[in-house]
Amino acid sequence: MTNRRLLCAVFLIACWLVSPARLHIAAQESSSRVILITLDGARTEEMFSGLDLDVLKSTLRENQKLEDQQAYQRFWAESPEARREKLMPFFWGTLMREHGSIAGNDRLRSSVTLTNTHRFSYPGYSEILLGEAHDDVIKSNDAVQNPYTTVLEVLKSHLTLTAPQVAVFTSWNVFDAIVEHTKGSLVVNAGFEAFDSPTPQIRELSQLQMETSTPWNSVRHDAYTFRFAMDHLRRERPRVVYLALGETDDWAHDGRYDRVLETYERTDTYLKELWTWIQADPEYRGRTHMLITTDHGRGRTVDDWRNHGAKVEGAQHVWIAFVSPAMKTRGEWRDHSPLATNQIAATLAGWMGVDWRALRPAAGASIGE
Ligand SMILES: [Zn+2]
Repeated sequence: MTNRRLLCAVFLIACWLVSPARLHIAAQESSSRVILITLDGARTEEMFSGLDLDVLKSTLRENQKLEDQQAYQRFWAESPEARREKLMPFFWGTLMREHGSIAGNDRLRSSVTLTNTHRFSYPGYSEILLGEAHDDVIKSNDAVQNPYTTVLEVLKSHLTLTAPQVAVFTSWNVFDAIVEHTKGSLVVNAGFEAFDSPTPQIRELSQLQMETSTPWNSVRHDAYTFRFAMDHLRRERPRVVYLALGETDDWAHDGRYDRVLETYERTDTYLKELWTWIQADPEYRGRTHMLITTDHGRGRTVDDWRNHGAKVEGAQHVWIAFVSPAMKTRGEWRDHSPLATNQIAATLAGWMGVDWRALRPAAGASIGE
């Protein structure tokens, strides 16, 4: 090659390296952010139809009248669409209408199922974070460190992020074990755990969480989890966030349907606050992908809505909501080929420019549209 030809080749390579299209793709991926949110054991019944009248009636004592119940007064309406919007007005009225979509409503022939057969939390969350069920290995809710590297850890290494840039805030303490294979690789604040912050109000909340016990030793109130996550978001500006809320499951186990409904409503205000913050921040607005889902469903009837597990019919049915600049669908998915929870890891990774199935060929395919 002559010098002149060599110069020409170098020039062409340089042109390609800085071409607007290529820079655009690189810039998009290097500035993308992803937020995964889970609501533990949130049934499709409440998500798509709001208050379940049979369940509410079944929780009343003999002398209690339905019409006198606060839950009935606040959340009852004739149609499923009106009921769910009373329960989660921001989610249904704004988020799903203008910015995202949700799959899993069987009335519209939309199906999302688990691929693990256990239908309880650790296997459910692990399936979300690995894109694979490991029914023979992950089969209890014991706090055993995840035997597999999770999508959160892989995103951190592939994007060369620091620990605070991949942050996990959860109400249930077992997440310490679920979300990472290598302990300490991510920032994880889980269960009744102190959270340090330069903000005095947040330090006060960290103290207060220990004084406001819940009926469950391993789960703190979601209010703390959410506020710590928001504080971290504002200060550390993470690229990957996982927010795992727990009370939808725990109040249901306790048979407190009124509290279950209140939890959905409160969660809706959290989604609104988070979304409003994202929209107001130039680094997050238009670049943040959100996926909201659950680890399992629950029974469908008045006899088993409190429970879930391998033998509980209905607990395999779940839902996934997407709010992503990469997706065009708005509102509800209908008449599509079934989706499964094992597709979530590839979807999250894909949004960040990482091909999950190249690393884990057995994982479910990413979800587009
Ligand atoms: Zn549960």
